[in-house]
Amino acid sequence: MSKYDYLVVGAGLYGAVLAYRLKQAGKKVLVIDKRSHVGGNLYCENIEGINVHKYGAHIFHTSNKEVWDFMNSFVEFNRYTNSPIANYKGKIYNLPFNMNTFYQLWGVKTPDEAKFVIENQRKESGITIPENLEEQAISLVGHDIYEILIKGYTEKQWGRKPSELPAFIIKRLPVRFIFDNNYFDDKYQGIPIGGYNQLFDCFLNGIDVKCDTDFFKNRDYFESLANKIVYTGKIDEFYNYKLGKLEYRSLRFESEILDMPNYQGNAVVNYTDLEVSYTRIIEHKHFEFGTQDKTVITKEFSLEADCNSEPYYPVNDKANEWLAQQYRSLSSKEENVLFGGRLAEYKYFNMDQIVYNVLYQNL
Ligand SMILES: Cc1cc2nc3c(=O)[nH]c(=O)nc-3n(C[C@H](O)[C@H](O)[C@H](O)COP(=O)(O)OP(=O)(O)OC[C@H]3O[C@@H](n4cnc5c(N)ncnc54)[C@H](O)[C@@H]3O)c2cc1C
Repeated sequence: MSKYDYLVVGAGLYGAVLAYRLKQAGKKVLVIDKRSHVGGNLYCENIEGINVHKYGAHIFHTSNKEVWDFMNSFVEFNRYTNSPIANYKGKIYNLPFNMNTFYQLWGVKTPDEAKFVIENQRKESGITIPENLEEQAISLVGHDIYEILIKGYTEKQWGRKPSELPAFIIKRLPVRFIFDNNYFDDKYQGIPIGGYNQLFDCFLNGIDVKCDTDFFKNRDYFESLANKIVYTGKIDEFYNYKLGKLEYRSLRFESEILDMPNYQGNAVVNYTDLEVSYTRIIEHKHFEFGTQDKTVITKEFSLEADCNSEPYYPVNDKANEWLAQQYRSLSSKEENVLFGGRLAEYKYFNMDQIVYNVLYQNL
């Protein structure tokens, strides 16, 4: 008889919330993770009393009350509102594109004036059927917003010129004709008071957890430990890449401790010109309204994933989607393995979608 009812591979958000649900249902669960900590990409490292988001800035946002209440039943969330700023050649602009941005760009003070400028630039472009991302963006928001706030950032993010990227990547570019810098349209948003790690302490409380433990280093042994497996690692790795390798875009982070209380006055500043090689600077303390004497900033660089880099974003093209579909049809035939989360489904999910999926997963 197996020692555990379930082995959960991966202690990220999907694995941890699912393990919590299994424990609530009276199951005996073992969670393993190849990293030295639980929390997956939400993990924060405490530096100088500041929760540093190790795998990229994470802001929880949702319109689903059930998901929001579930998360807040473990840890209360603060009132952090994501209002990023763009720095283009030393000038500051508010994001997302709203009346503050239009005032900064053109000095316009009313929605009608702003609409007039955008409409004129769209017409002037003469683009009827956009053939690439550059044309698509200009046809949606005009030349100025594209040049100053989209072009350089997009090129850094994708490693290719927008004129060489397909138009479909940008379907719409929301423009707001009100003075509102709140990035998300969701009803609820915030950061857990005291950071994300405590959430995982709550989810995994009373569950056997082993870190620094890679499923594939001892696959037969781990499979023998449990009747069923919940797998949240890479789907192609589960099948030993037998159909080919799925591609990802990755990120590189450079963090520094600065001997000053406040470096940039905002958690997120995007650098939208090409001359600056990073895409943004995160100043972590502002997610939690920190008042420490020092501050920690992280410069974020976008790059293609190789075998040494973390896989962050699935590559959204036809070849990768086709391959992912082949792997998904293999995984759907597994009777004792449940595949869940961003790597096992090869899909970008926000955190609230992950929680929703786990809460509605049939066990
Ligand atoms: C840079 C970035 C910023 C983001 N910002 C936001 C945001 O602001 N708001 C938002 O809602 N969402 C955000 N997201 C999305 C969020 O990170 C995901 O929704 C969430 O992390 C998915 O959880 P997961 O459990 O599927 O994956 P993960 O968190 O990646 O967890 C998977 C775990 O499995 C482990 N694992 C993999 N293979 C093995 C193996 N062989 N053996 C053992 N363990 C293994 C990994 O070590 C990892 O801990 C962001 C994503 C990125 C990349």
